[in-house]
Amino acid sequence: MEAIAPLTLTSLGGVGTVTGSRHLLEVGASRILLDCGLFQGLKEFRERNWQPFPLDPSTLDAIVITHAHLDHCGYLPRLMKQGFGGPVFVTYDTGKLMSVVLPDSGRLLEEEAGYANRKGYSKHHPALPLYTEDDAWAALDLLHPVAFDQPFQPAPGIEAVFQPAGHILGAAVTRLRVGAATMVCSGDLGRQQHPFLRPPVPIGDADWVMVESTYGDRRHLSDDTVDRLAEVITRTADRGGVVVIPAFAVDRTEVLLFHLHRLHTAGRLPAIPIFLDSPMALAALTIYRAALADEAADVRSEFQGHPEIIDLPALEEVSDTEGSKAVSRRHGSAVIIAGAGMASGGRVVHHLARFLPDARNTVALVGFQAEGTRGRQLLEGATSLKIHGQYVRVRAEICDLTGFSVHADADELVAWLGTATREPSGVFVVHGEPSAAKALHDRIEQELDWVAVAPGLGELLSLVPTTPS
Ligand SMILES: [Zn+2]
Repeated sequence: MEAIAPLTLTSLGGVGTVTGSRHLLEVGASRILLDCGLFQGLKEFRERNWQPFPLDPSTLDAIVITHAHLDHCGYLPRLMKQGFGGPVFVTYDTGKLMSVVLPDSGRLLEEEAGYANRKGYSKHHPALPLYTEDDAWAALDLLHPVAFDQPFQPAPGIEAVFQPAGHILGAAVTRLRVGAATMVCSGDLGRQQHPFLRPPVPIGDADWVMVESTYGDRRHLSDDTVDRLAEVITRTADRGGVVVIPAFAVDRTEVLLFHLHRLHTAGRLPAIPIFLDSPMALAALTIYRAALADEAADVRSEFQGHPEIIDLPALEEVSDTEGSKAVSRRHGSAVIIAGAGMASGGRVVHHLARFLPDARNTVALVGFQAEGTRGRQLLEGATSLKIHGQYVRVRAEICDLTGFSVHADADELVAWLGTATREPSGVFVVHGEPSAAKALHDRIEQELDWVAVAPGLGELLSLVPTTPS
């Protein structure tokens, strides 16, 4: 029997919140960071991005990133500025998507700092960005793409392999092997129902499992979302209105286009133009089309080689600002898909200002809407909305299509844990608000009768398998 290497896990983020995923794994002198995410949302979380990293980043052997969402990769340029220069392992499509989202993040951070300086509201003079677009481009030079199912060694004594997680393109369940022991990390876990990505791989044999808990206390409504999408577009077109859909650039837009393609093929869509008004969504769409055409390993086998499943004859791609303004000014029915997904910023904001006051129009919300965002206010029945310093009357129909989620819900998380072929020595519940993490933790204890731990921030856990193979 191989000697069991002592392994420790310390979560430096992504616990007690769904953002800032950063998990430190140490074996002897080897150190890797699993995910390098940005804290987002409430100010108390965002301020953590400014705190010095709790260890010297140059002592990390490598970083392993599970997928291209900023709460899993968006801190990388900042860590590089603090001295990290090692390899960053990603899947090929995660690397491509990061080359879209990281520079965009740097650009936004620069814009925010510039705005704070003009308005003079920052305590820092001058206000500086957490990192710049140039920093983001420099960080991308560290990426080491590896294929799904191809083993790699991020540090001496640690073997790893990425397998499809079904969450967004390139998203991985990461299987880490230390000596004879195995740890399986969910990253963000997708759903069985993703229309064109493979469902998450089963856990199989594992000594420890790290599982996300975003929806650990919730159940997605049963799915008539696509029918309701068809109905709301038809209803709005019948009254001569416009459907505005604030959409997340990566994956949600592609899922939406997939369903619109199907509805179009089935003759269930009125003949009106569909505008995709988001440079980032268009860049991501190009990567998705290439992945479908090139038969990426995480695409469902029946759709490999079929990029047309996300194409629409009525689609009009809008990349420049002038084009976006022209879309807002035009008359006649249309569907407008624009960022940002929670209407907290981006081009969708000027479309809302234009279309909300007219009762013929509709705003369809297709994703999670966080507290404090315009999307959430609309869901909760706001009668007016503050946009660019002015109040705009809400007369448009508001349609809740948040069933288009790309996260597993509580039942799906428990079902995924049930794909383990034996009882693990421990399950670590991360990446959830405290109530969601607790709810999933309790279900694991009660329904599976396993040891479950929701680690605290910075808490060091020693991992010793109780049933060594
Ligand atoms: Zn994610």
